[in-house]
Amino acid sequence: MYDLAIKRGCVITPDGKQQLDIGIRNGRIAGLSLPGMLGEAKDTLEVPGRYIFPGGIDVHVHMDDLGAEEMEDWRHGSLAAAAGGITTVADMPIDNVPATVNGDTLRMKLERIKGNSYTDYMAWGGLATDNLASIPDMLKEGAAGLKAFLCDSGAKDFAQVTDPILLEAMRMAAAEDFPIIIHAENEAINQYYTKKYKGSSRWEDLGRMRPEVSEMEAVAKCALFARLTGARVHIAHISSAKSIPIIQEARRQGARLTCETCPHYLMFSQEDYIEKGALLKCAPPIRDEENKAALWKELEDGNIDIISSDHSPSAYKSEADGPDDAWAGISGIQCTLLVLYSEGYCKGRISLERIAQIFSYKPAGLMGIDKRKGSIALGKEADLAILDPTKKTVFGEAQMKTKVKSSVYKNSCFQGAVERTYLRGVMVKEPAPQGCYICR
Ligand SMILES: [Zn+2]
Repeated sequence: MYDLAIKRGCVITPDGKQQLDIGIRNGRIAGLSLPGMLGEAKDTLEVPGRYIFPGGIDVHVHMDDLGAEEMEDWRHGSLAAAAGGITTVADMPIDNVPATVNGDTLRMKLERIKGNSYTDYMAWGGLATDNLASIPDMLKEGAAGLKAFLCDSGAKDFAQVTDPILLEAMRMAAAEDFPIIIHAENEAINQYYTKKYKGSSRWEDLGRMRPEVSEMEAVAKCALFARLTGARVHIAHISSAKSIPIIQEARRQGARLTCETCPHYLMFSQEDYIEKGALLKCAPPIRDEENKAALWKELEDGNIDIISSDHSPSAYKSEADGPDDAWAGISGIQCTLLVLYSEGYCKGRISLERIAQIFSYKPAGLMGIDKRKGSIALGKEADLAILDPTKKTVFGEAQMKTKVKSSVYKNSCFQGAVERTYLRGVMVKEPAPQGCYICR
C-alpha cells in the first residue's frame, strides 16, 4: 500500500519522458508503473496532461537571513523556491552577517534556518583570504564545500581569496573530495575598467566595466588549478559562452571541472538594461543576444552542467541606481523552471530531459546527494515539481513569495505554471516548513 499515488502524469527523467504512475511510501518513490498498473494507495492525485519534473536542486542561493533579513529570509525565500519547483537549496556563505567562514558562523546559520525552510537545505562554507584552519570545523558541521571569490565579493567580511590559499584549499578538497564553487572574475581587470567608466549612467557600459575577458581569465586559472590539484571545482554563474571552450579543454586534460549558468543570462540580453536598469544588474553582467543564444546551445549540448538561480535579492535596489552603484544581484529563485520551460523548451532550445538533468540530476551529483535525490527513480526521495503546460504564469506581485517584491521578472509572462511541489512525498504548503538540513 502506497501513501500516495500520483497518476496519469508525464514523468521527466534524465533519459526521457514517459507516462508513468508514481507510488510514494515513507517519502520515497516506491513504485513506478505504466498507467493503471500501480498498486493501492491511501491517497491518489490525478494529473493528466501535466509534466512531472524531479524537484529542483539549486546549488547557489543567497538567503541573507541572519543580519540581512530585510532582503530575504528562509521562510520567504524557501517558499519561493518551492513555488518554483525547487526542493533543495544550497546557501552561500556571503550576504548574511557575519559571513559563514568558520564553524561558529555556520552553526549560527543552521540554528537560524532550523524549522524555517520549506525546502531541504545545504550550506556552503566560505573560503576567504586565510581561513584554511577553519575548514575542518565547517566540514564537520556538514558544509557542502567551499565558496571563493577571485574578485572583490562586495562584502566587507568576505575577502577575495589569494592564489596560494585557493591552491591549498583545492589540495584539501581533492583529499577530502568536497567541491569548491568559484566566482570567477579577474579583479584587476574589473577595477581598471570600472574606474574607466566610473560615473557613467549608460547601462551599455556595465558590460565594459566587467568584460568577458575578466571571466575568461579567471576561469582559465581555476581550470589550471583544478587540473593540477585534482579537486572538484565548479564555476559559478557563467555569463559568457566564450568561457566554455576553456572549461572543455581543461576537462579533456583531466580537470574535474563543472559549471553553471543562471536563468537571467538565458532570459535577458544586455539590450534589456535600457528598460530594466538596476533590476537586471548582476555580476558578472548580462552579455549580448548572440551570447544568450550560445549559452542556450551549450546548455542543451551538455557543456554547461547546471542551472542555478544565484538568487540574491536586495531591499535597497532602486530603479534610479546607475550601472556602477546599483546592487549586483537578481531575485529570481521562483522562475528558474519557468524560464527553462517557457523560454527554453517552448522555443525549441532545450529538451525536457535536459531540463531534468541541469535542474536536478547534475546538481545532485555536484552536491554528493545523488543517492537520495536528483531524479524520479525507485528508491529516491519523492521530490517532485508538477507543471501544467497549458496554463500561463503572469508573475505579478501577488504570485511572488519572496520577502522583497522587487524582481526583474516582475510581470513577466511564462508559458506553463508550477502547480504543486512535493518534498519527500509531502506537498509543500504554508505554514508548515518541512525542510531538513543535509550534511555533506
Ligand atoms: Zn552568488
